[in-house]
Amino acid sequence: MNHSKINQAVIYDTTLRDGSQAEGVSFTVTAKLRVAEKLDQFGVDYIEGGWPGSNPRDMAFFEKATDLNLNHAKIAAFGSTRRALINVEDDPQIKLLLEANTPVVTIFGKSWLLHVTDVLRTTPEENLAMIEDSVRYLKEQGKEVIYYAEHFFDGYTSNPEYALSTLAAAEKGGANFLVLCETNGGKLVPEVSEATQVVVENFPNTKVGMHCHNDAGVGVAVSLAGVEVGAVMVQGTMNGYGERNGNANLTTIIPNLELKMDLRTNCGSHLSKLRDLSFFIDDATNLRPDIRAPYVGAASFAHKGGVHADAASKSNRSYEHIDPALVGNRTRVLVSDMSGRSSIMMKAKEMGMEVDGRSPEMKSFLEELKRLEFQGYEFEAADASFDLLLKRFLRGEDPAFKVLRYHVGVSSEEGTDESSSEATVKLKVKDEIRHVVAEGNGPVSALDHALRKALEKDFPFIQEVRLVDFTVRILESNLGTDAITRVHVESTDGNKTWGTVGVSDNVITASWEALVDSVSHKIQIESLGNS
Ligand SMILES: [Zn+2]
Repeated sequence: MNHSKINQAVIYDTTLRDGSQAEGVSFTVTAKLRVAEKLDQFGVDYIEGGWPGSNPRDMAFFEKATDLNLNHAKIAAFGSTRRALINVEDDPQIKLLLEANTPVVTIFGKSWLLHVTDVLRTTPEENLAMIEDSVRYLKEQGKEVIYYAEHFFDGYTSNPEYALSTLAAAEKGGANFLVLCETNGGKLVPEVSEATQVVVENFPNTKVGMHCHNDAGVGVAVSLAGVEVGAVMVQGTMNGYGERNGNANLTTIIPNLELKMDLRTNCGSHLSKLRDLSFFIDDATNLRPDIRAPYVGAASFAHKGGVHADAASKSNRSYEHIDPALVGNRTRVLVSDMSGRSSIMMKAKEMGMEVDGRSPEMKSFLEELKRLEFQGYEFEAADASFDLLLKRFLRGEDPAFKVLRYHVGVSSEEGTDESSSEATVKLKVKDEIRHVVAEGNGPVSALDHALRKALEKDFPFIQEVRLVDFTVRILESNLGTDAITRVHVESTDGNKTWGTVGVSDNVITASWEALVDSVSHKIQIESLGNS
Protein backbone atom coordinates (compact mmCIF):
# COMPACT_ATOMS: atom_id res chain seq x y z
CA MET A 1 0.00 0.00 0.00
CA ASN A 2 1.22 3.42 -0.85
CA HIS A 3 0.59 6.05 1.80
CA SER A 4 3.21 8.39 0.55
CA LYS A 5 1.58 9.80 -2.57
CA ILE A 6 2.95 13.30 -3.09
CA ASN A 7 1.37 16.20 -4.94
CA GLN A 8 4.41 18.38 -5.58
CA ALA A 9 7.65 17.25 -7.19
CA VAL A 10 11.03 18.96 -7.02
CA ILE A 11 13.00 19.28 -10.28
CA TYR A 12 16.78 18.99 -10.10
CA ASP A 13 18.57 19.65 -13.37
CA THR A 14 22.02 18.24 -14.04
CA THR A 15 22.34 19.20 -17.72
CA LEU A 16 25.42 21.29 -16.95
CA ARG A 17 27.19 18.52 -15.00
CA ASP A 18 26.02 15.00 -15.92
CA GLY A 19 24.65 16.23 -19.27
CA SER A 20 28.00 17.66 -20.26
CA GLN A 21 29.45 14.12 -20.08
CA ALA A 22 27.57 13.33 -23.28
CA GLU A 23 29.33 12.63 -26.53
CA GLY A 24 29.24 15.77 -28.64
CA VAL A 25 28.22 18.07 -25.79
CA SER A 26 30.55 20.77 -24.58
CA PHE A 27 29.47 23.94 -22.81
CA THR A 28 31.63 27.04 -22.65
CA VAL A 29 31.44 28.99 -19.40
CA THR A 30 29.29 31.62 -21.11
CA ALA A 31 26.93 28.97 -22.48
CA LYS A 32 26.65 27.43 -19.02
CA LEU A 33 25.65 30.77 -17.54
CA ARG A 34 23.04 31.36 -20.25
CA VAL A 35 21.63 27.86 -19.79
CA ALA A 36 21.45 28.37 -16.01
CA GLU A 37 19.43 31.56 -16.49
CA LYS A 38 17.11 29.84 -18.91
CA LEU A 39 16.57 26.88 -16.55
CA ASP A 40 15.77 29.32 -13.77
CA GLN A 41 13.24 31.16 -15.94
CA PHE A 42 11.62 27.82 -16.72
CA GLY A 43 11.14 27.20 -13.00
CA VAL A 44 13.66 24.44 -12.29
CA ASP A 45 14.31 24.14 -8.52
CA TYR A 46 17.97 23.11 -8.51
CA ILE A 47 20.70 23.58 -11.12
CA GLU A 48 23.78 21.44 -10.73
CA GLY A 49 26.51 23.56 -12.27
CA GLY A 50 29.48 21.22 -12.35
CA TRP A 51 32.18 19.50 -10.36
CA PRO A 52 34.58 22.13 -9.03
CA GLY A 53 37.25 19.52 -8.40
CA SER A 54 37.17 18.12 -11.91
CA ASN A 55 38.12 21.02 -14.16
CA PRO A 56 38.90 24.75 -14.12
CA ARG A 57 35.97 25.52 -16.41
CA ASP A 58 33.51 24.38 -13.76
CA MET A 59 35.21 26.51 -11.12
CA ALA A 60 35.04 29.54 -13.45
CA PHE A 61 31.32 28.89 -13.84
CA PHE A 62 30.76 28.92 -10.07
CA GLU A 63 32.72 32.17 -9.72
CA LYS A 64 30.54 33.90 -12.31
CA ALA A 65 27.32 32.18 -11.20
CA THR A 66 27.30 34.17 -7.97
CA ASP A 67 26.52 37.24 -10.12
CA LEU A 68 23.53 35.62 -11.82
CA ASN A 69 20.20 37.07 -10.91
CA LEU A 70 18.16 33.95 -10.40
CA ASN A 71 14.49 34.12 -9.47
CA HIS A 72 14.02 30.75 -7.94
CA ALA A 73 16.62 28.10 -8.73
CA LYS A 74 19.41 27.19 -6.36
CA ILE A 75 22.84 26.38 -7.78
CA ALA A 76 24.44 23.14 -6.59
CA ALA A 77 28.09 22.14 -6.72
CA PHE A 78 28.77 18.44 -7.19
CA GLY A 79 31.52 16.35 -5.68
CA SER A 80 32.31 13.28 -3.65
CA THR A 81 32.53 12.40 0.03
CA ARG A 82 35.91 12.76 1.70
CA ARG A 83 38.62 10.27 0.88
CA ALA A 84 39.25 7.31 3.17
CA LEU A 85 41.20 7.77 6.38
CA ILE A 86 41.64 11.55 6.33
CA ASN A 87 39.84 14.31 8.21
CA VAL A 88 37.02 15.79 6.21
CA GLU A 89 38.28 19.36 6.72
CA ASP A 90 41.66 18.38 5.24
CA ASP A 91 40.17 16.90 2.05
CA PRO A 92 41.19 19.13 -0.88
CA GLN A 93 38.14 18.17 -2.94
CA ILE A 94 35.77 19.10 -0.08
CA LYS A 95 37.61 22.43 0.19
CA LEU A 96 36.96 23.11 -3.49
CA LEU A 97 33.27 22.32 -2.97
CA LEU A 98 33.12 25.01 -0.31
CA GLU A 99 35.09 27.44 -2.49
CA ALA A 100 32.43 27.06 -5.17
CA ASN A 101 30.33 29.18 -2.82
CA THR A 102 26.95 27.67 -3.69
CA PRO A 103 23.97 27.37 -1.35
CA VAL A 104 23.67 23.67 -2.18
CA VAL A 105 26.28 20.93 -2.27
CA THR A 106 25.55 17.51 -3.73
CA ILE A 107 27.95 14.78 -2.71
CA PHE A 108 28.05 11.23 -3.88
CA GLY A 109 29.03 8.20 -1.85
CA LYS A 110 29.21 4.49 -2.47
CA SER A 111 26.22 2.23 -1.81
CA TRP A 112 27.53 -0.90 -3.46
CA LEU A 113 29.86 -2.97 -1.33
CA LEU A 114 31.73 -4.15 -4.42
CA HIS A 115 32.72 -0.52 -5.13
CA VAL A 116 33.69 0.08 -1.51
CA THR A 117 36.13 -2.82 -1.39
CA ASP A 118 37.34 -2.89 -5.02
CA VAL A 119 37.25 0.75 -6.12
CA LEU A 120 37.74 2.71 -2.90
CA ARG A 121 39.74 -0.18 -1.37
CA THR A 122 38.47 0.61 2.07
CA THR A 123 36.30 -1.07 4.69
CA PRO A 124 32.49 -1.00 4.81
CA GLU A 125 32.68 0.87 8.15
CA GLU A 126 35.06 3.53 6.86
CA ASN A 127 32.76 4.13 3.88
CA LEU A 128 29.85 4.81 6.24
CA ALA A 129 32.03 7.21 8.25
CA MET A 130 33.08 8.99 5.05
CA ILE A 131 29.44 9.57 4.14
CA GLU A 132 28.32 10.73 7.57
CA ASP A 133 31.35 12.97 8.24
CA SER A 134 31.16 14.65 4.85
CA VAL A 135 27.43 15.38 5.05
CA ARG A 136 27.72 16.67 8.62
CA TYR A 137 30.73 18.87 7.87
CA LEU A 138 29.05 20.50 4.86
CA LYS A 139 25.86 21.02 6.85
CA GLU A 140 27.93 22.71 9.56
CA GLN A 141 29.27 25.08 6.91
CA GLY A 142 25.69 26.18 6.26
CA LYS A 143 25.08 24.19 3.08
CA GLU A 144 21.94 22.43 1.99
CA VAL A 145 23.27 18.93 1.36
CA ILE A 146 21.90 16.53 -1.20
CA TYR A 147 23.27 13.04 -0.73
CA TYR A 148 23.67 11.08 -3.86
CA ALA A 149 23.75 7.31 -3.40
CA GLU A 150 25.79 6.17 -6.37
CA HIS A 151 24.89 2.73 -7.80
CA PHE A 152 22.14 2.52 -5.21
CA PHE A 153 20.00 0.01 -7.08
CA ASP A 154 22.86 -2.32 -7.96
CA GLY A 155 24.05 -2.06 -4.36
CA TYR A 156 20.58 -2.80 -3.11
CA THR A 157 20.33 -5.90 -5.30
CA SER A 158 23.63 -7.29 -4.05
CA ASN A 159 23.30 -6.31 -0.38
CA PRO A 160 20.16 -4.46 0.67
CA GLU A 161 21.17 -4.04 4.34
CA TYR A 162 24.44 -2.36 3.45
CA ALA A 163 22.88 -0.13 0.80
CA LEU A 164 20.29 1.06 3.32
CA SER A 165 22.97 1.61 5.97
CA THR A 166 24.75 4.10 3.65
CA LEU A 167 21.52 6.11 3.45
CA ALA A 168 21.19 5.93 7.23
CA ALA A 169 24.71 7.37 7.54
CA ALA A 170 23.77 10.28 5.25
CA GLU A 171 20.57 10.88 7.19
CA LYS A 172 22.49 10.83 10.45
CA GLY A 173 24.86 13.45 9.04
CA GLY A 174 21.82 15.62 8.33
CA ALA A 175 21.29 15.25 4.55
CA ASN A 176 18.35 17.21 3.16
CA PHE A 177 17.68 14.69 0.40
CA LEU A 178 18.63 11.06 -0.16
CA VAL A 179 18.94 10.63 -3.91
CA LEU A 180 18.85 7.09 -5.27
CA CYS A 181 21.02 6.69 -8.34
CA GLU A 182 20.41 4.24 -11.13
CA THR A 183 23.96 4.93 -12.25
CA ASN A 184 24.36 2.08 -14.72
CA GLY A 185 20.88 2.59 -16.13
CA GLY A 186 20.10 -1.08 -16.59
CA LYS A 187 17.22 -1.71 -14.18
CA LEU A 188 13.59 -1.97 -15.20
CA VAL A 189 10.55 -0.50 -13.47
CA PRO A 190 9.58 -3.27 -10.98
CA GLU A 191 13.02 -3.46 -9.34
CA VAL A 192 13.45 0.32 -9.07
CA SER A 193 9.93 0.76 -7.81
CA GLU A 194 10.27 -1.89 -5.13
CA ALA A 195 13.62 -0.65 -3.78
CA THR A 196 12.47 2.97 -3.78
CA GLN A 197 9.37 2.03 -1.84
CA VAL A 198 11.53 0.33 0.81
CA VAL A 199 13.65 3.48 1.12
CA VAL A 200 10.63 5.77 1.36
CA GLU A 201 9.20 3.57 4.13
CA ASN A 202 12.50 3.31 6.01
CA PHE A 203 13.31 7.01 5.88
CA PRO A 204 10.03 8.79 6.52
CA ASN A 205 11.78 11.92 7.81
CA THR A 206 14.09 12.59 4.87
CA LYS A 207 12.98 13.39 1.35
CA VAL A 208 13.95 10.91 -1.36
CA GLY A 209 15.04 11.68 -4.93
CA MET A 210 15.63 9.77 -8.17
CA HIS A 211 18.68 10.04 -10.45
CA CYS A 212 18.33 7.61 -13.35
CA HIS A 213 20.14 6.86 -16.58
CA ASN A 214 18.66 5.60 -19.79
CA ASP A 215 20.77 2.58 -20.76
CA ALA A 216 17.77 0.26 -20.87
CA GLY A 217 15.64 2.92 -22.57
CA VAL A 218 13.50 3.41 -19.45
CA GLY A 219 15.22 6.34 -17.72
CA VAL A 220 12.00 8.35 -17.69
CA ALA A 221 9.84 5.36 -16.69
CA VAL A 222 11.97 4.38 -13.69
CA SER A 223 12.15 8.01 -12.52
CA LEU A 224 8.37 8.28 -12.62
CA ALA A 225 8.03 4.89 -10.93
CA GLY A 226 10.08 6.26 -8.03
CA VAL A 227 7.79 9.28 -7.80
CA GLU A 228 4.77 6.97 -7.84
CA VAL A 229 5.99 5.32 -4.64
CA GLY A 230 6.89 8.55 -2.86
CA ALA A 231 10.17 10.01 -4.16
CA VAL A 232 9.86 13.80 -4.12
CA MET A 233 12.82 14.95 -6.21
CA VAL A 234 13.45 14.01 -9.83
CA GLN A 235 16.86 14.57 -11.35
CA GLY A 236 17.59 14.55 -15.03
CA THR A 237 18.90 16.55 -17.97
CA MET A 238 17.18 18.60 -20.62
CA ASN A 239 16.84 16.66 -23.88
CA GLY A 240 18.21 13.63 -22.04
CA TYR A 241 21.86 14.56 -22.49
CA GLY A 242 24.31 12.39 -20.61
CA GLU A 243 27.00 9.83 -21.14
CA ARG A 244 26.22 6.62 -23.02
CA ASN A 245 22.44 6.65 -23.64
CA GLY A 246 21.94 9.72 -21.54
CA ASN A 247 20.17 10.70 -18.34
CA ALA A 248 16.46 10.58 -17.68
CA ASN A 249 15.02 13.27 -19.94
CA LEU A 250 13.45 16.20 -18.09
CA THR A 251 11.71 17.48 -21.23
CA THR A 252 9.68 14.25 -21.05
CA ILE A 253 9.49 13.91 -17.26
CA ILE A 254 8.15 17.39 -16.51
CA PRO A 255 5.12 17.22 -18.86
CA ASN A 256 4.45 13.65 -17.71
CA LEU A 257 4.36 14.80 -14.08
CA GLU A 258 2.17 17.79 -14.87
CA LEU A 259 -0.14 16.44 -17.54
CA LYS A 260 -0.31 12.71 -16.88
CA MET A 261 0.30 12.26 -13.16
CA ASP A 262 -1.43 15.40 -11.94
CA LEU A 263 1.59 16.44 -9.91
CA ARG A 264 2.63 20.03 -9.60
CA THR A 265 6.15 21.28 -10.23
CA ASN A 266 7.46 24.81 -10.15
CA CYS A 267 7.79 24.55 -13.96
CA GLY A 268 4.05 24.05 -14.41
CA SER A 269 3.22 27.65 -15.24
CA HIS A 270 6.02 27.74 -17.83
CA LEU A 271 5.15 24.46 -19.55
CA SER A 272 4.21 26.18 -22.81
CA LYS A 273 7.87 27.29 -23.03
CA LEU A 274 9.11 23.69 -22.92
CA ARG A 275 9.76 23.39 -26.64
CA ASP A 276 11.62 26.71 -26.72
CA LEU A 277 13.77 25.58 -23.81
CA SER A 278 14.59 22.30 -25.53
CA PHE A 279 15.64 24.19 -28.68
CA PHE A 280 17.66 26.66 -26.69
CA ILE A 281 19.65 23.87 -25.04
CA ASP A 282 20.35 22.14 -28.36
CA ASP A 283 21.40 25.46 -29.81
CA ALA A 284 23.77 26.16 -26.91
CA THR A 285 25.54 22.87 -27.60
CA ASN A 286 25.19 23.00 -31.37
CA LEU A 287 23.34 19.68 -31.46
CA ARG A 288 20.58 18.94 -33.93
CA PRO A 289 17.20 18.68 -32.22
CA ASP A 290 15.78 15.17 -32.05
CA ILE A 291 12.61 15.33 -34.12
CA ARG A 292 11.21 12.25 -32.37
CA ALA A 293 11.70 13.52 -28.81
CA PRO A 294 8.41 13.11 -26.92
CA TYR A 295 6.40 16.35 -26.49
CA VAL A 296 9.05 18.70 -27.91
CA GLY A 297 10.12 17.02 -31.17
CA ALA A 298 9.21 18.50 -34.54
CA ALA A 299 7.55 15.15 -35.33
CA SER A 300 5.67 14.84 -32.03
CA PHE A 301 2.42 16.10 -33.51
CA ALA A 302 3.09 15.61 -37.22
CA HIS A 303 0.62 13.69 -39.34
CA LYS A 304 1.35 12.00 -42.60
CA GLY A 305 -0.84 10.16 -45.01
CA GLY A 306 -4.41 10.63 -46.14
CA VAL A 307 -6.36 8.94 -43.37
CA HIS A 308 -4.39 10.36 -40.41
CA ALA A 309 -4.18 13.83 -41.83
CA ASP A 310 -7.85 13.76 -42.68
CA ALA A 311 -8.87 12.60 -39.21
CA ALA A 312 -6.45 15.05 -37.61
CA SER A 313 -7.98 17.89 -39.59
CA LYS A 314 -11.44 16.92 -38.31
CA SER A 315 -10.36 16.58 -34.72
CA ASN A 316 -6.76 16.94 -33.63
CA ARG A 317 -7.40 15.05 -30.45
CA SER A 318 -8.26 11.90 -32.34
CA TYR A 319 -4.57 11.33 -33.14
CA GLU A 320 -2.83 13.39 -30.47
CA HIS A 321 -2.31 12.45 -26.81
CA ILE A 322 -2.34 16.06 -25.59
CA ASP A 323 -3.01 19.52 -26.94
CA PRO A 324 0.44 20.36 -28.41
CA ALA A 325 0.12 24.01 -27.36
CA LEU A 326 0.43 22.95 -23.71
CA VAL A 327 4.13 22.26 -24.29
CA GLY A 328 4.65 24.95 -26.94
CA ASN A 329 4.45 22.54 -29.86
CA ARG A 330 2.00 22.43 -32.75
CA THR A 331 0.26 20.07 -35.12
CA ARG A 332 1.99 19.69 -38.47
CA VAL A 333 0.69 18.13 -41.61
CA LEU A 334 3.38 16.45 -43.61
CA VAL A 335 3.23 16.68 -47.33
CA SER A 336 4.06 13.57 -49.24
CA ASP A 337 2.85 11.57 -52.16
CA MET A 338 0.81 9.56 -49.68
CA SER A 339 -1.28 12.57 -48.90
CA GLY A 340 -4.42 13.50 -50.65
CA ARG A 341 -6.39 16.64 -51.15
CA SER A 342 -7.48 16.94 -47.53
CA SER A 343 -3.97 17.23 -46.14
CA ILE A 344 -2.99 19.74 -48.82
CA MET A 345 -6.05 21.76 -47.91
CA MET A 346 -5.21 21.54 -44.24
CA LYS A 347 -1.67 22.61 -44.98
CA ALA A 348 -2.99 25.54 -47.02
CA LYS A 349 -5.25 26.49 -44.14
CA GLU A 350 -2.28 26.34 -41.79
CA MET A 351 -0.64 28.85 -44.14
CA GLY A 352 -3.69 31.06 -44.03
CA MET A 353 -5.10 30.19 -47.47
CA GLU A 354 -8.61 28.98 -48.20
CA VAL A 355 -8.58 26.70 -51.22
CA ASP A 356 -11.20 24.83 -53.16
CA GLY A 357 -10.29 21.15 -53.12
CA ARG A 358 -12.09 20.51 -56.40
CA SER A 359 -10.69 23.39 -58.42
CA PRO A 360 -8.66 22.72 -61.60
CA GLU A 361 -5.75 24.59 -59.95
CA MET A 362 -5.79 22.04 -57.13
CA LYS A 363 -5.77 19.19 -59.63
CA SER A 364 -2.78 20.58 -61.49
CA PHE A 365 -1.02 21.32 -58.21
CA LEU A 366 -1.39 17.70 -57.09
CA GLU A 367 -0.04 16.51 -60.43
CA GLU A 368 2.95 18.83 -60.13
CA LEU A 369 3.59 17.65 -56.58
CA LYS A 370 3.59 14.01 -57.67
CA ARG A 371 5.98 14.81 -60.52
CA LEU A 372 8.39 16.64 -58.20
CA GLU A 373 8.32 13.92 -55.57
CA PHE A 374 9.07 11.37 -58.26
CA GLN A 375 12.10 13.46 -59.23
CA GLY A 376 13.39 13.30 -55.67
CA TYR A 377 11.97 16.40 -54.03
CA GLU A 378 10.91 15.96 -50.44
CA PHE A 379 8.88 18.69 -48.84
CA GLU A 380 8.50 17.34 -45.33
CA ALA A 381 11.43 19.32 -44.01
CA ALA A 382 11.04 22.03 -46.65
CA ASP A 383 7.91 23.90 -45.59
CA ALA A 384 9.07 27.09 -47.24
CA SER A 385 9.59 25.49 -50.68
CA PHE A 386 6.19 23.87 -50.43
CA ASP A 387 4.60 27.14 -49.42
CA LEU A 388 6.10 28.93 -52.45
CA LEU A 389 4.98 26.16 -54.78
CA LEU A 390 1.44 26.17 -53.43
CA LYS A 391 1.10 29.92 -53.74
CA ARG A 392 2.50 29.87 -57.27
CA PHE A 393 -0.11 27.31 -58.32
CA LEU A 394 -3.18 28.27 -56.38
CA ARG A 395 -2.75 32.01 -56.38
CA GLY A 396 -0.66 32.45 -59.49
CA GLU A 397 1.79 34.50 -57.44
CA ASP A 398 4.80 35.84 -59.30
CA PRO A 399 8.25 35.45 -57.81
CA ALA A 400 9.69 38.61 -56.23
CA PHE A 401 12.69 38.47 -58.52
CA LYS A 402 13.82 36.69 -61.64
CA VAL A 403 17.13 34.90 -61.97
CA LEU A 404 18.76 35.78 -65.29
CA ARG A 405 22.10 34.09 -64.83
CA TYR A 406 24.49 32.82 -62.21
CA HIS A 407 28.02 31.53 -62.35
CA VAL A 408 30.46 30.21 -59.78
CA GLY A 409 34.14 29.40 -60.01
CA VAL A 410 36.58 27.74 -57.64
CA SER A 411 40.27 28.44 -57.75
CA SER A 412 43.14 27.10 -55.75
CA GLU A 413 46.68 28.29 -55.67
CA GLU A 414 49.40 25.82 -56.45
CA GLY A 415 51.57 24.96 -53.47
CA THR A 416 49.17 26.36 -50.85
CA ASP A 417 46.17 24.94 -49.04
CA GLU A 418 44.11 27.94 -49.95
CA SER A 419 41.21 27.89 -52.33
CA SER A 420 38.58 30.50 -52.93
CA SER A 421 35.27 30.71 -54.71
CA GLU A 422 33.74 33.56 -56.60
CA ALA A 423 30.14 33.81 -57.76
CA THR A 424 28.40 36.16 -60.17
CA VAL A 425 24.66 36.62 -60.00
CA LYS A 426 22.42 38.54 -62.37
CA LEU A 427 18.82 39.14 -61.28
CA LYS A 428 15.87 41.18 -62.38
CA VAL A 429 14.09 42.85 -59.45
CA LYS A 430 10.98 44.75 -60.53
CA ASP A 431 12.43 46.42 -63.65
CA GLU A 432 15.97 46.82 -62.43
CA ILE A 433 18.88 44.58 -63.27
CA ARG A 434 21.12 43.65 -60.32
CA HIS A 435 24.47 42.22 -61.30
CA VAL A 436 26.94 41.45 -58.50
CA VAL A 437 30.03 39.44 -57.65
CA ALA A 438 30.83 37.96 -54.25
CA GLU A 439 33.33 35.60 -52.70
CA GLY A 440 32.95 32.76 -50.26
CA ASN A 441 35.03 29.98 -48.77
CA GLY A 442 33.21 27.49 -50.97
CA PRO A 443 31.02 27.65 -54.07
CA VAL A 444 27.74 27.46 -52.13
CA SER A 445 28.71 30.22 -49.71
CA ALA A 446 29.89 32.37 -52.64
CA LEU A 447 26.51 31.91 -54.35
CA ASP A 448 24.69 32.61 -51.10
CA HIS A 449 26.67 35.84 -50.57
CA ALA A 450 26.15 36.99 -54.15
CA LEU A 451 22.43 36.24 -54.09
CA ARG A 452 21.89 38.20 -50.91
CA LYS A 453 24.10 41.06 -52.04
CA ALA A 454 22.03 41.33 -55.22
CA LEU A 455 18.81 41.56 -53.21
CA GLU A 456 19.76 43.67 -50.21
CA LYS A 457 19.19 47.01 -51.94
CA ASP A 458 15.54 46.19 -52.69
CA PHE A 459 14.97 43.98 -49.63
CA PRO A 460 17.26 45.15 -46.82
CA PHE A 461 15.86 42.56 -44.38
CA ILE A 462 17.63 39.85 -46.44
CA GLN A 463 20.70 40.69 -44.34
CA GLU A 464 19.01 39.04 -41.35
CA VAL A 465 18.89 35.68 -43.09
CA ARG A 466 21.61 33.16 -42.40
CA LEU A 467 22.01 29.48 -43.18
CA VAL A 468 21.90 27.19 -40.18
CA ASP A 469 22.13 23.87 -41.91
CA PHE A 470 23.01 22.56 -45.32
CA THR A 471 22.72 18.87 -46.14
CA VAL A 472 23.33 16.98 -49.34
CA ARG A 473 21.88 13.58 -50.15
CA ILE A 474 22.75 11.51 -53.17
CA LEU A 475 19.67 9.70 -54.46
CA GLU A 476 19.20 6.86 -56.85
CA SER A 477 17.55 8.38 -59.85
CA ASN A 478 14.00 7.31 -60.62
CA LEU A 479 14.44 8.51 -64.14
CA GLY A 480 17.10 6.17 -65.46
CA THR A 481 19.75 8.90 -65.55
CA ASP A 482 22.79 9.44 -63.29
CA ALA A 483 22.43 9.73 -59.54
CA ILE A 484 20.75 12.94 -58.47
CA THR A 485 21.42 15.24 -55.56
CA ARG A 486 18.94 16.62 -53.09
CA VAL A 487 20.04 19.65 -51.11
CA HIS A 488 18.23 20.74 -48.01
CA VAL A 489 18.89 24.16 -46.55
CA GLU A 490 17.69 25.47 -43.25
CA SER A 491 17.67 29.22 -42.78
CA THR A 492 16.81 31.57 -39.98
CA ASP A 493 16.27 35.30 -39.50
CA GLY A 494 16.87 34.95 -35.77
CA ASN A 495 13.16 34.70 -35.21
CA LYS A 496 11.78 32.03 -37.52
CA THR A 497 13.47 29.02 -39.04
CA TRP A 498 12.48 27.53 -42.39
CA GLY A 499 13.56 24.73 -44.68
CA THR A 500 13.94 24.68 -48.46
CA VAL A 501 14.88 22.02 -50.98
CA GLY A 502 16.54 21.75 -54.35
CA VAL A 503 17.04 18.72 -56.61
CA SER A 504 19.31 18.29 -59.59
CA ASP A 505 21.93 15.97 -61.04
CA ASN A 506 24.31 18.85 -60.27
CA VAL A 507 24.96 19.78 -56.64
CA ILE A 508 25.48 23.48 -57.46
CA THR A 509 22.15 23.73 -59.26
CA ALA A 510 20.34 21.93 -56.44
CA SER A 511 21.98 24.22 -53.86
CA TRP A 512 21.12 27.33 -55.87
CA GLU A 513 17.49 26.27 -56.06
CA ALA A 514 17.28 25.81 -52.28
CA LEU A 515 19.03 29.16 -51.68
CA VAL A 516 16.64 31.01 -54.02
CA ASP A 517 13.64 29.48 -52.23
CA SER A 518 15.12 30.50 -48.89
CA VAL A 519 15.39 34.22 -49.72
CA SER A 520 12.08 34.15 -51.62
CA HIS A 521 10.39 32.85 -48.50
CA LYS A 522 11.88 35.65 -46.41
CA ILE A 523 10.66 38.25 -48.94
CA GLN A 524 7.23 36.68 -48.84
CA ILE A 525 6.88 36.67 -45.04
CA GLU A 526 8.13 40.26 -44.84
CA SER A 527 5.66 41.48 -47.47
CA LEU A 528 2.82 39.71 -45.67
CA GLY A 529 3.90 41.30 -42.38
CA ASN A 530 3.88 44.78 -43.93
CA SER A 531 0.65 44.54 -45.85
ZN1 LIG B 1 24.42 10.33 -13.38
